[in-house]
Amino acid sequence: MPFMVYYSVLLVLFGAFAVLFYLCFNLCLQYFHPAICHTDGEVLYSFDDGPSIYTPQILEILKQHDQKAIFFCIGKNIATHPEIFAEILAHGHQVGNHSFSHSNFFGFKSLKDIIKEIQDTDDIMQKHGAVEVRYFRPPFGVINPTISKALKRTGHTVMGWSVRSFDTILSEKIVLKRLKNIKKQDIILLHDSKSQTINILKQLLK
Ligand SMILES: [Zn+2]
Repeated sequence: MPFMVYYSVLLVLFGAFAVLFYLCFNLCLQYFHPAICHTDGEVLYSFDDGPSIYTPQILEILKQHDQKAIFFCIGKNIATHPEIFAEILAHGHQVGNHSFSHSNFFGFKSLKDIIKEIQDTDDIMQKHGAVEVRYFRPPFGVINPTISKALKRTGHTVMGWSVRSFDTILSEKIVLKRLKNIKKQDIILLHDSKSQTINILKQLLK
C-alpha cells in the first residue's frame, strides 16, 4: 500500500523536524551548546534588542531602584544610538552581544557570517566603551550546530533565561501576571525595544 508508506515517511519526517525545532529553540536544554540560565545569587534582569529610544527610561527606573541589569545589544542599533549605548555603560550595567543584524535568518547563515556578526558587534561595543564582552545571547534564542561552532571560535559564553516575559507580544497585564512568581536566581527576559516594557519594569520593581 504505497499511500500508507508515504504517509508514514511524512509522519516520521514531520516528527524529526518538530524535535529538531524544539531543540534549536530551547537553548536552556543545552543540547547544542552550554548556556547559563540561572544566576547563583540574585534575580538578573536582562534586556534584549536595544539600544532604542526607550532604553534611557529603562535606565532611569533601574537607577531609581538601585538595580543592575544586563543589556543584550544589537550591533546595528548601537550604530544608530551610540550615545544610548554609552549611557548603559555609564549607569554601570553589563552589556552582552545579541548579533549585529538580528536577522530572521541568523540560524541559516554560514559559519563565517555568524562569526563576523558576533565579532562586528564586539567591535562596535568596544569602540563605544565596552571593556569586555563576555556573554552572547542568540537572536530568538536559537542555537544550532553552526552557531555553536561559531561560539567555540569567538569564546563567548551563552546566556539564556529562566523566565520569558513575552513582553513583545503579550499585554502588560498578562506579562505582569507571568512575572508574579519570580524567584531568586531567575534570569528574566525583557526587551528595551518595546515601549510597554517601561511600565512593566516600573510595576515589577515597585
Ligand atoms: Zn532579540
